[in-house]
Amino acid sequence: MEADEVNSEPAADSRDEWRLLAWTVLAVMVPVLITLWCSVQRSKRKMIIKDIFRRSKHGWHYTDLFNKPTYCCVCFQHIIQGAFCDCCGVCVDEQCLRRADRSLPCKEIMAPAQADGTLAHSWVRGNVPLCSYCAVCKQQCGTQPKLCDFRCVWCQTTVHDDCKSLLEDGGRCDLGEFRSLIVPPHYLHRINKLRRGYTEEHSKLAATLGSGWSPVLVLANTRSGNNMGEALLGEFRTLLNPVQVFDLSQLSPAKALQLCALLPPGRVRVLVCGGDGTVGWVLDAIDAMKLKGQEQFAPHVTILPLGTGERSVQLPGLGCGLRRGDPCGTGPEEHPGC
Ligand SMILES: [Zn+2]
Ligand SMILES: [Zn+2]
Ligand SMILES: [Zn+2]
Ligand SMILES: [Zn+2]
Repeated sequence: MEADEVNSEPAADSRDEWRLLAWTVLAVMVPVLITLWCSVQRSKRKMIIKDIFRRSKHGWHYTDLFNKPTYCCVCFQHIIQGAFCDCCGVCVDEQCLRRADRSLPCKEIMAPAQADGTLAHSWVRGNVPLCSYCAVCKQQCGTQPKLCDFRCVWCQTTVHDDCKSLLEDGGRCDLGEFRSLIVPPHYLHRINKLRRGYTEEHSKLAATLGSGWSPVLVLANTRSGNNMGEALLGEFRTLLNPVQVFDLSQLSPAKALQLCALLPPGRVRVLVCGGDGTVGWVLDAIDAMKLKGQEQFAPHVTILPLGTGERSVQLPGLGCGLRRGDPCGTGPEEHPGC
């Protein structure tokens, strides 16, 4: 009997040790497995979101924290994180992203005019900019804690839900205060129907937009100046036609400047946002245009230095107009935009 007790004690001890080991392994492994599972799920979600972004007509961006009170345009709920389109201003949470992408139209870069030749407002509901005022009653918009009020993605007019039907412009959009800088979607639609190359018909069409019309192309390098380029491009896509705003990290200046050939010669301006390298790259592309015999389409250049761009403003003529004999070969009088 005594011998049995002596034998069973070490056996019980080793059982306890095994149990302790098992619990320790379990206590360590469970959080590790949960973390692993979560990170796999997160990367799966990211892949799905990336895929939607890539195929979308919208200019989606993801944020972990909206910088103002924001409501989902699909489920109307208050959201803290999610996606927003920097072209049309639609905001959604992750769950509603796919639905929003399918059902909500974006700012159309090319669209026919109405029967009377004018453009209709293109309204997006909710998330109007802070401190925007109703075009009808002149009271502040977007003050209610819900998805409310409308903004036209072209002219930036804002109206209350109840005031929209009282707007006295007959639904016609005049493209707002930046109309002289915007390439209107109906202009591009007509141009697209005309044959290739700038013709007399193009000039007539441009004349309908007024003598002050001087469209600006924005070329920015999103890799310059601590992501300032990214934010700038977003602002310009909101205010202008997204087709005239180019991210040089995705498209070369030569390709971007091809748009100049569809716009009236001598009127186009280019705003280059970036560092010295970016500015030089764009000027080279303009030079190449001239060598190809497209001198008439060479745009006027204005520079907005980002990052290390301060050196470019020290170059002779740059930042305040280019001098004769510079790489661009044009004088300050030919750069009224500078
Ligand atoms: Zn939602
Ligand atoms: Zn959009
Ligand atoms: Zn409008
Ligand atoms: Zn109102």
